Amino acid sequence: MAQEDVFKKIVSHCKEYGFVFPSSDIYDGLGAVYDYGQNGVELKNNIKQYWWQSMVLLHENIVGIDSAVFMHPTIWKASGHVDAFNDPLIDNRDSKKRYRADVLIEDQVAKYEEKIEKEVAKARKRFGEAFDEAQFRATNARVLENQQKRDALHQRYSDAMNAMNLEELKQIILDEEIACPISGTRNWTDVRQFNLMFKTEVGSTADGASTIYLRPETAQGIFVNYLNVQKTGRMKVPFGIAQIGKAFRNEIVARQFIFRMREFEQMEMQFFVKPGTELEWFETWKNTRMAWHQALGFGAENYRFHDHEKLAHYANAASDVEFRMPFGFKEVEGIHSRTNFDLSQHAKFSGRKIEYFDPETNESYTPYVIETSIGVDRMFLSIMCHSYEEEKLEGGETRVVLKLPAALAPTKLAVLPLVKKDGLPEKAREIMQELKFHFNCKYDEKDSIGKRYRRQDAVGTPYCITVDHQTLQDNCVTLRNRDTMQQERVSVESLRSLIEDKVSLTSLLKKL
Ligand code: ATP
Repeated sequence: MAQEDVFKKIVSHCKEYGFVFPSSDIYDGLGAVYDYGQNGVELKNNIKQYWWQSMVLLHENIVGIDSAVFMHPTIWKASGHVDAFNDPLIDNRDSKKRYRADVLIEDQVAKYEEKIEKEVAKARKRFGEAFDEAQFRATNARVLENQQKRDALHQRYSDAMNAMNLEELKQIILDEEIACPISGTRNWTDVRQFNLMFKTEVGSTADGASTIYLRPETAQGIFVNYLNVQKTGRMKVPFGIAQIGKAFRNEIVARQFIFRMREFEQMEMQFFVKPGTELEWFETWKNTRMAWHQALGFGAENYRFHDHEKLAHYANAASDVEFRMPFGFKEVEGIHSRTNFDLSQHAKFSGRKIEYFDPETNESYTPYVIETSIGVDRMFLSIMCHSYEEEKLEGGETRVVLKLPAALAPTKLAVLPLVKKDGLPEKAREIMQELKFHFNCKYDEKDSIGKRYRRQDAVGTPYCITVDHQTLQDNCVTLRNRDTMQQERVSVESLRSLIEDKVSLTSLLKKL
C-alpha cells in the first residue's frame, strides 16, 4: 500500500476509534485545530506522564512549573518573537492558496532526493546480492546529476534563508518551475513575511486595552521564572526547569493532520549550565533524549538526528530528533543550545539582574541554556503511525491492531464476560472492581467475543481477559495477548502480578 494511503487510514482510524476529532466537527471543522477523544486523551496523558517523570522524577536537579499562557507583552519583544518570528509566505493567484515559500523549496529538494533513492532501489533490484551501493552512488550518471542539482538548490536556498532574501526565494521558485499543486500554474505573488503569533487584547474597554499574545512556545514562561525557581528551590547550576503546556502559532499552511497545528502542546525543558560547558551538555541531552525515544521500542532505524546548518541568531548548536513518518523523516523534537540569549534579553528589558551566584567560585554569571523541546501532538502522531498495523490472519481475515507500547496504551486490560448471563457479568465486574485501582480497565459485554477482541485490538489494549462458566468453578480466566493473540488460562489472583509490571510506566522508565 502506498504510504499516502496508509496515512489516510491512520487519520480515519483516529477518528473512528475516538483518538482525534477535527475541532468543531459539527460545524465542519476549523483549520489545523483538533480535539482529542476518549482514547486520545488517555494516550496523550500517558505520553506526557512518560516525559514528565523521565525529567522530574529521574533527575534530582530538574523541577517543573506551570506558567500562564498570557504573559507581559514585552516578553515577546525581548525574546525576538515580535520582530523575527516570521515565515516567508507566497500565494498562487489562480488557486488563491497560500504556501510557505521555504516549504515549497524544501519539497523540491526532497524530490531530487527521491529521484536518487528510486535509481538506487531500481539498481538494487536488478543486481541483487552483487549490488555495491556506495559505488553505484558515486558513479551512476543519473544519480550524480540529481545529486548535483539537489546540492546546488540546497546551497542557494540556505543562502537565501540566512539572508532572509525574499526576492531570491521567489526567484528560486520560478527557476525551479515549482507549480501550485492545486491549480498547476506558476502564477505566484511576491514572497512576504508573516508573523506567526496570535494577538488578542486584555482589558474591558477598548481604550484601556493592551495587546497581548498567545504564547508561541512555553520556553519563555520558564525563562521569566528562572529567578523565582532558582531562589525558592535553592537550585544549584546545573539545573533544569520543565514545563508542559499549550502553544499557539498561526501556521500559514495546515498540513499532515496533527503534525502542524495552530493550537498544540509542548513539553519543554530548559537546562541552565555554566558558560563554557554548554556544548558538552548539548551532547549529553541529545543522547538522553534519543534514549527516551528509543526506549519505546520502535527501532533505532526509524530515528535520526538532523543537525542544523542554519542556526537561529541566539543558538550556538541545534539538532532535531527526526522520526520516520509515512510522509518521510520529520522533526518531533528540537534540542538547542540557546546560549545566554534569553536570560540576558530579559535582564535588559525588565531591568532586573538575572544571574547566578556560584558559591563555590564566588562569581556571578548569566547561565547558558540547553533546551529540549518536543511537541506532544507530533509525538502522538509518530506513535500512532508506528503502531498501526493491518495484519493478515490465517483464513484470509485481516485485523487492524494498534501495537502501542503497553505503558502508553489508553486501556491496559479489557474484562469480557463470555455471555451476558449466568452470573458471568457479575463475576467480571468483581474482577474489575479489584484491578481498576492498579491500571486502566474497561468492561465490555456487547457482541461476540471475537468482535470484542477486534475492538480492543483497534484501540491498542494489550490484554483481554474472558470470564466463562468455568471461571465460576475454578476462579481462572483466559488471558489474551494483543500482539501474539495467544491465550492462556490463569488464576484471577495472579492477574495483577502478571499484567501490572508489563503495562506500568515504571517498566518504561527503568529502560532509561
Ligand atoms: P517546524 O520547523 O516543523 O515548524 P519548529 O522548528 O518551528 O518546527 P520548534 O519551535 O523547535 O519547532 O518547536 C519544538 C517542537 O514543537 C517541534 O519539534 C514540534 O514537535 C512542536 N511543534 C512546533 N510547531 C508545531 C505545530 N505547529 N504543530 C504541532 N507541533 C509543533
